[in-house]
Amino acid sequence: MNVILVGPPGAGKGTQAETIVQTFRIPHISTGDMFRDAVRQGTELGKKAQEYMNAGKLVPDEVTIGIVKERLSQPDCDRGFLLDGFPRTVVQAEALDGIMESLGKRIEVVLNIAVPDEIIIERIVGRRSCKKCNAVYHVKFNPPKVEGICDKCGEPLFQRADDREETAAQRLKVYAEQTNPVLDFYVKKGVVVNIDGNRSRSAVWEDVKKALESYDNN
Ligand code: ADP
Ligand code: AMP
Repeated sequence: MNVILVGPPGAGKGTQAETIVQTFRIPHISTGDMFRDAVRQGTELGKKAQEYMNAGKLVPDEVTIGIVKERLSQPDCDRGFLLDGFPRTVVQAEALDGIMESLGKRIEVVLNIAVPDEIIIERIVGRRSCKKCNAVYHVKFNPPKVEGICDKCGEPLFQRADDREETAAQRLKVYAEQTNPVLDFYVKKGVVVNIDGNRSRSAVWEDVKKALESYDNN
């Protein structure tokens, strides 16, 4: 099952991804997580990505496409994968088509998680993330059992540098300008399923699960 999650920052992609990958046993490929890991490790990729991320801008296409191409070629993607946060530009979507063709695969479904902008800012500003396992929480909507500590791995939680209000607004602007056209790209291919993300996590999950079950052939 080859799936893409689309939706503005803070829509709940990472949250739904945690349950999707457990249920359908496919790898979670989040370009945001890959960039944050690289920044933490101080690699060349991290150095290239950091300044764009902190400004709420997109990392250049050639850098992003390169890391996704390499990741999708790994054997754990043979049974399928969940792309989260990629593609975010039409250039990336076209490059992904080429990568899929060279691997003899195709994108089967694009889940579009829609949430209005005014709801999103509160979600982003209250998000807390785990540095070690990338799990996401919210101070109000999904608090950890012990404040500031990851339920899953016991590490301290942190607030992402780009989750402050000013940067969040910039990221929404970038989404509207550069990522909305990606949705049209996949609508034309007839693979988009729209999900109302402005509901509880479990209500969203019910729809996500229903949408994906018909593609699960493992
Ligand atoms: P994305 O990966 O799309 O940027 P996240 O999954 O990280 O979004 O969610 C953003 C924030 O909103 C997190 O703090 C998360 O706990 C919270 N969140 C996710 N889904 C919901 C929901 N259905 N209702 C309320 N808050 C949610
Ligand atoms: P995310 O975790 O998906 O919210 O992404 C965080 C940041 O990483 C974005 O604001 C971008 O700076 C960068 N990023 C993640 N995915 C991409 C992508 N597909 N293209 C360009 N930049 C990306």
